[in-house]
Amino acid sequence: MATMIWMQEITKLYRLGEITLPVLRGIDLAIEEGEYIAIMGPSGSGKSTLMNLLGCLDRPTSGNYILEGRNLTTLDNGKLAHIRNQRIGFVFQQFNLLPRSTALENVMLPMIYANIPKQKRRQQAIQALTRVGLGEHMFHRPSQLSGGQQQRVAIARALVNRPALVLADEPTGALDTKTSQEVIDLLTELNQQRITIIIVTHSPEVAAQTKRVIRVQDGLIM
Ligand code: ADP
Ligand code: MG
Repeated sequence: MATMIWMQEITKLYRLGEITLPVLRGIDLAIEEGEYIAIMGPSGSGKSTLMNLLGCLDRPTSGNYILEGRNLTTLDNGKLAHIRNQRIGFVFQQFNLLPRSTALENVMLPMIYANIPKQKRRQQAIQALTRVGLGEHMFHRPSQLSGGQQQRVAIARALVNRPALVLADEPTGALDTKTSQEVIDLLTELNQQRITIIIVTHSPEVAAQTKRVIRVQDGLIM
């Protein structure tokens, strides 16, 4: 198996006026292609900050991040955005769907940035929605869907550019137990199809279904 993620001595500081807040204090992390990982740790320990760095949504203060053999630290913002769009899918606790757009339009969105022609965007979005079991709900808006269905739309959106890595930050945090399990079953199935999956979770039940648990505390991996 090839190494997908390699973080070396990653730090992240936030500056708030005069105060400097060290949020990540030297993260060393290696993740192989196809892994299925849970990240756990207390609130405020730096889990979301780490996910944002893993997903190229933000840059570290220092350290190296090598993704699929490329050192991202040296790339400009345009190249970083391209990698994010092509290689990484995101799922968030609050789904982050556009409220006035249909499920289909929400799922088509990442492909606009990827310069895919409209007909193909539509076709791939329908495929992704079908894959998450929402083929019948394509023309519904988020308010017309349950929480679990909205999260599945978000997962379809994360999948539509065929990412190698899916990052889910507390994806079941806003869902009841049964719906949570459906979302985790879906992520497990995607991992079985060789997508690398990283889930931030507070739930021991969710973590137990992954293959490795990483514990973050005070900006360090334990
Ligand atoms: P977790 O996801 O583990 O709850 P976070 O990574 O969201 O933790 O936050 C870690 C710490 O960093 C917290 O103290 C939080 O207040 C702080 N923090 C997060 N984002 C910012 C930001 N953009 N600016 C300043 N402080 C931040
Ligand atoms: Mg968080």
